[in-house]
Amino acid sequence: MTTLSFYGAAGTVTGSCSLLETGAHRCLVDCGLFQGNKTVRALNDAPFPFEAKAPDFLLLTHAHTDHTGLVPKLMKQGFAGPIYATSATIDLLTFMLPDSGRIQESEAERSNRWRKRRNKPLIEPLYTEADAKAALERMVPVEYDEWIEPAPGFHARWGNAGHILGSASIEVKFQEKDNGNTMRLLFSGDLGPDEKVFHPEPGGEQGFDYIICESTYGDRERADYTLDGRREALRKELVAGLERGGNIVIPSFAVERSQELLHDIGVLLANGDIPKATVFLDSPLASKVTDVFIKHAAHLEDVEVPNAELFRDPNFRITRSVDDSKAINDIKGGAIIVSASGMADAGRVLHHLKNNIWRPECTVLFVGYQASGSLGSIIQSGKSDVRIHGKDFKVSAAIRTIGNYSAHADQSELIDWIMERAPVAGGLFLNHGDNDARAELRRLLGERGMDVGSILMPEFDESFDLTAGTPKSKGRTAPRIEQAALERDWYNDYAAFMLALGNAMEDDANEGKRKEILAALKDTLAKG
Ligand SMILES: [Zn+2]
Repeated sequence: MTTLSFYGAAGTVTGSCSLLETGAHRCLVDCGLFQGNKTVRALNDAPFPFEAKAPDFLLLTHAHTDHTGLVPKLMKQGFAGPIYATSATIDLLTFMLPDSGRIQESEAERSNRWRKRRNKPLIEPLYTEADAKAALERMVPVEYDEWIEPAPGFHARWGNAGHILGSASIEVKFQEKDNGNTMRLLFSGDLGPDEKVFHPEPGGEQGFDYIICESTYGDRERADYTLDGRREALRKELVAGLERGGNIVIPSFAVERSQELLHDIGVLLANGDIPKATVFLDSPLASKVTDVFIKHAAHLEDVEVPNAELFRDPNFRITRSVDDSKAINDIKGGAIIVSASGMADAGRVLHHLKNNIWRPECTVLFVGYQASGSLGSIIQSGKSDVRIHGKDFKVSAAIRTIGNYSAHADQSELIDWIMERAPVAGGLFLNHGDNDARAELRRLLGERGMDVGSILMPEFDESFDLTAGTPKSKGRTAPRIEQAALERDWYNDYAAFMLALGNAMEDDANEGKRKEILAALKDTLAKG
C-alpha cells in the first residue's frame, strides 16, 4: 500500500512536511518550521507524528524556513538518512540554518531569564547553531532536471519552480510494491509568479498520478504588473523619498527580496532614473545571501547588469560588521537603507526605524507582506506612536507601501500551472494554503473542467491511501492541533480582547464606564 501523509502546511502555510511511504521506501518531502500564532508555533516543540528515524531520505524543495527549519530537530531526534536539495538551496541553507539555530538559542536564553525569575523549569533551545551545522553535513546537491535514485527503485528529479534561488518542484517515481505499476507524483513546492526577476517560468510536464500543489494565493489575484512596471513604482517612491530630504528605510526579507531590491535600485541608479544616493544593505544574513546570488549569477534571468557587476554598484555599501552598521546611525539624509527583518519584528531594521521614524523628512517603505500583529503592520496601520525596543517613538516619517514584489504565484498563475499538468490520473492535493484559498481554487479548477471529486484538501496530520485510483482518506492519526486553531487560536482572541480593554480604559469620555467594565469582569472571574 502507498500512503501519503500531510504533517504540516495543510490548512495553513507553514511547517511543510509530507511523508510518502511506498512499502519499500519512506520519503520525507520538506521539514519546515511552524510560524504563526502561539498554538501553531507550539507544534515546533511537539514530537514529530512519525518516528524521526523512520524516513530513509529527505528531499527539500527550497531553502525557506517554513520548508527546512525543523531539519536540525529531525536529525537530533534520530533521522540518519541523506538530505537532497539543489546546490543553490544548500548554499542558502549554509547561512540560513545556522542563523535559525542562533535565533533558537537566543529565544531559549530570553525565555529562561524570564523563567528563572519566576522559578519555572528552564527550557532547551529547539536546536542550536551546532545542530544546524551538523544537518548541513548531511546534504547532497542535485542538478535541476536530472534524475537521481536515492534508494533502489525510487527516483526523484528537481524542476525549476521560479519561487526563490534554488527552488524546485520535485517529481518522484517508483514501482508500487503490490502490483508493480509505476507511480508518478509531483510536489509543487512553492511556486513563483510569472513576472519574477532572476528565475524562468516553470516548464510543464504531464502524466502524473498525483500532484501535490501549493495554494497560498488560491483566492487572490494580484494586479498585473511587469518587471518594468514594478521598477517604475519603486522609482517613484525613491524619488519622492529622496526629495523629502531624509533617509529611506526599507524593511526587507533577507533572502531574495533584498537582492531583488538591490538589483532594481542598481538599474535605476545606473540609468540615472533616481538621484545619486548611498544604498546600504544592513543585515548579516542578507549580506551572506547576496554572496550566494553572486556565486549563482550565471543561472539568474532578467539580470540587467553584467554578472561581474551584480550587487557591486559603487553606491552600494554592504555592511559586514556591527561597526559598519552603527556608522549608518550618523547619516541624516540621502541614504536608502535596506535591512531585515521584512516585517520589522526583529533584526537591525529596528535600529534604523528608531533613528528615522520620528523624523518627518524620512520615509519608511514597505515592499512585502506584513502579518497582522507584526511591528510592520502596526506602522502600516497609521498608528501615531509605536514601541520599539521598549521605547515609544512618534511616527512622523512618510509611511509608504508598494505591494508588487511577491515570490508566490497568484490565483490564475496557480490555475495555469495545474492545467498545464492536467489531467491527473489519481488526484490533486491542495496544500500550503488556508481553507478559503483551497476551496476557491478547487471551485475554479472545477469550472475549468477538472473533477472536483478528485481535488482533495488534506487536513493537518491526515493520511491517504494512494494505491488504486482516487485517494482514500485514512483519517487523521492523533492530530496534534484542531484544524480551526491553525487560523485563529485562543491567544489571538486574548490579544484582541486585551487591546479592546486597553482602549476602553484609556477612553477619557468613558470615565463612568471604566468601573462598570472592571466590576463586570471581576464578577465573571469570581464565578469561575
Ligand atoms: Zn517559500
